[in-house]
Amino acid sequence: MTRIIAVTNQKGGVGKTTTAVNLAASLAHLSHKVLLIDLDPQANATMGCGVDKSLVRGTVYHVLLGEKSIADVRISTEFGFDVLPANRDLGGAEVELVTFAKREARLRDCLAELGNIYDYVLIDCPPALSLLTVNGLTAAGAVIIPMQCEYFALEGLSDLIGTLRKIRSSTNPRIEIEGLLRTLYDPRSTLAQQVSAQLREHFGDKVYETVIPRNIRLAEAPSFGRPILAYDKSSKGAQAYLRLADELLSRQGSRE
Ligand code: ADP
Ligand code: MG
Repeated sequence: MTRIIAVTNQKGGVGKTTTAVNLAASLAHLSHKVLLIDLDPQANATMGCGVDKSLVRGTVYHVLLGEKSIADVRISTEFGFDVLPANRDLGGAEVELVTFAKREARLRDCLAELGNIYDYVLIDCPPALSLLTVNGLTAAGAVIIPMQCEYFALEGLSDLIGTLRKIRSSTNPRIEIEGLLRTLYDPRSTLAQQVSAQLREHFGDKVYETVIPRNIRLAEAPSFGRPILAYDKSSKGAQAYLRLADELLSRQGSRE
């Protein structure tokens, strides 16, 4: 069965796209078949895996509007996984979908048509609770929540938990939290340690053991259109995302 995981947080700049791209690359490196869906009109995930916009036959926009299938539009990257690209047009989908029946479930239904050809589908959500994000959360079986351990982190998190509750009672009763991922982490920061302790208290083992350190190589890689594994495999950032992939796989193994 394909596992569909949305990478989400209504806050911007917390490492959603970095996590979606690098987890996709890490799972592919570990021989899993992965589709990365870019659901953000900013298209950072698309560019971050080096997709040349001039080679794009269509985007997730055409898929959501029913003009093209995922199979028509997806692109094989040189990093071992496929990507369903986005571009700025995707912003217009919000408005254009308004007249559609079941507009929250467009992505879910398109993924169902695809069958179980992927082991993992990762969805990079935009930083807002828009119809696009609702499509991501309606399609997903679980969410990964990247977050920075800063002062208002827990408050932001309670908004997100509220959103998941709403999704559960409306479009997707089965969605669960796959894990909370501490990103841009500085182990020397007392605040980061305090927030970590509070997270553990509230969410227990939903908090990944793996933390993603602040690592300049992770910030550089997207400007070369590469996941970190294909940019600097020995960097702390690359090693951290490989550990995250391992942790995700072993958690899944222990549930089965
Ligand atoms: P989001 O998708 O949540 O808006 P991004 O993944 O785009 O966040 O990250 C925001 C910025 O921070 C980007 O410039 C990215 O390259 C950088 N960044 C993300 N994670 C790290 C990290 N662990 N170390 C250093 N820079 C990072
Ligand atoms: Mg992003």
